[in-house]
Amino acid sequence: MITLHEVHKQDSGDVKAAVVAFGARHPFDGAGPDAEPDWKWAEKHFTRLIEVIMGTAALAQGRGTDTVHRAENEAVQLLLTLNTVPDYRCPICVKQRRDAL
Ligand SMILES: [Zn+2]
Repeated sequence: MITLHEVHKQDSGDVKAAVVAFGARHPFDGAGPDAEPDWKWAEKHFTRLIEVIMGTAALAQGRGTDTVHRAENEAVQLLLTLNTVPDYRCPICVKQRRDAL
């Protein structure tokens, strides 16, 4: 499965900005606003995002390489869409907080 790092490397412009913005939603505990994000955490949530999308797609189409690629593309599109919303929250973070309640 594709990683945020690979997405960042492959694409340019808007996608890169979206990846960086998604990373910024995952700061280290107690880190300042200008600190480097916790990329391991962000990667984990990006993978989870693909899995959630794939889960939905797999129900409809069966799980194949196509499904994985489509889910990866959709996850990247989702980051792009999210990045048009000011101060958006990572959907996986939101979900985990909700599950923890
Ligand atoms: Zn998250």
